[in-house]
Amino acid sequence: MPTSSTPKPRGRHFFANPGPTNIPDSVLRAMDRGSIDFNDPEFVEVYEAAFAGVKRVLRTNQHVFMYNASGHGAWEASLTNLLSPGDTILVLESGYFSDEWAAMARSHGLEVRLIEADWRRGVDIADVGKALATDTEHAIKAVCVVHNETATGMMLPLPAIRDAIDAASHPALFLVDTISSLGSLEFRMDDWKIDCVVGGSQKGLMLPTGMSFTGVSDKALAAHRQAKLHRFYFDWTMMEKRAQKSFIGTIPVNIFYGLRESVRLLDEEGIDNVTARHSRLAEATRRAVKVWAGNNGPQLFCLTPDRYSDSVTAILMPEGFNGDALRKTVRERFNVSLGGGLGKLGGKIFRIGHLGDLNEPMLLGALTAIEMALRIDGIPHGRGGVEAAMAFLAGE
Ligand SMILES: *Cc1c(COP(=O)(O)O)cnc(C)c1O
Repeated sequence: MPTSSTPKPRGRHFFANPGPTNIPDSVLRAMDRGSIDFNDPEFVEVYEAAFAGVKRVLRTNQHVFMYNASGHGAWEASLTNLLSPGDTILVLESGYFSDEWAAMARSHGLEVRLIEADWRRGVDIADVGKALATDTEHAIKAVCVVHNETATGMMLPLPAIRDAIDAASHPALFLVDTISSLGSLEFRMDDWKIDCVVGGSQKGLMLPTGMSFTGVSDKALAAHRQAKLHRFYFDWTMMEKRAQKSFIGTIPVNIFYGLRESVRLLDEEGIDNVTARHSRLAEATRRAVKVWAGNNGPQLFCLTPDRYSDSVTAILMPEGFNGDALRKTVRERFNVSLGGGLGKLGGKIFRIGHLGDLNEPMLLGALTAIEMALRIDGIPHGRGGVEAAMAFLAGE
C-alpha cells in the first residue's frame, strides 16, 4: 500500500500571497451549491446584485463587461475591443505585469512605446507628459498603466497620470489594470476619468480565480465601435446583444453567488474602512521589513515611499541569499505561503500579500514565520521586526 511520505501539516494554512488571496468563509458557503440555469429568475437577481456591486467597487456609473477568464483575458479584452492593427499605445513600465501587458499588445500587432523605469522607483510622471505633449499627431491611442504593480510592490499615482494626459490635451484613452488594487486601495474609475479598467476576481474581491471584467467609459465604448483588432470571445458588441450584456457562453453561476457575498462584505465594512485596513496592515509590514533590513538584511524593494503598495510588499534578499529558499522554509516549517519573485526578479525577492480578507493576527502570523525562517536559514537581519509591527498595530 502506498503511504504518504510527509504528513499533512496541522493547523490552518496561512496564505500571504498577493493573489489569489484568502477566501472568506461566508463567500465559500455562498458558492457551495448545485447548478442553476443562468436564465433562472432566482439567478438573474443574484447576477444583477453582484453586477451592481462591482460597479460600486469600481466607483462607476458607466459600463462593465465580464469574462470567464483570469485577468489576462480582461487585458486581452481591453486591447482588442479598443484598438486597431498598427495602433500605437504608451505603456508605463512598472515591472513584470506592465511588461506582460505590453508583450500581449505587441502580439496583437500594436506598436508599444514604453516609458522605461527602474523597477524599484517607477516612471517619472513628467516623462509621460513629455511623451504625450510631443505626440502632436496623436498617434498614441491609449495610455496603459498598472495601478498596483504586484510584482514589485509599487503603486502608481493615477490622478497625477490623468492630469498629465489632460495637461497635454491628449485624446488617448486611459487604460488601467487594477487587478491587485481594486477592493484594497483607493480607486475611482469615473472621478479619475479612466476609460477602461481591468479587474480580476482573485485578489481584493476575495474569490477564486477564473473571472475577470472591464469597466468601460462612454468614450471607450465609442472608440470600440471603430476598433478593428480581431476578437470574438471577448467582443463587447456581441455581449451587448446577450440578455445579460456580458459573457460569451455560460455564466459562472457559483462565482456570482460568491461575488454577491464579497461585495456585500465590502459594503458592510465600508470601502473607506477597507482601504484604511489595508493601509494599516501594509505599514505594519513595512515597519517589520525596515527592522529586518538592519545588519545588511532583507530590505524593501520599492525605493519610493509615496509609491509603497498597500496590498503587497516586495522584499529584496541580501546578496547571496535566495528568496525561494526562504519561502520553502516558511512553507515547510510553518505552513505559510508567500509570493515569489516574477520574471527577472525570480529568487531575488519574495512578496508578502496583505490584501483581501486579512486582519492583524493573520499578518503577524506570516511576519513571525518569516522572522523565524530568517533565523533558521542563517540569513543576516535585524531582530525585532515583528515587535515593530506589533507596536505599530497597537498604536504605540
Ligand atoms: C494578478 C495580476 C494580473 C494577472 O491576472 P491573472 O488573473 O493571473 O491572469 C495582471 N495584472 C496584475 C497587476 C496582477 O496583479
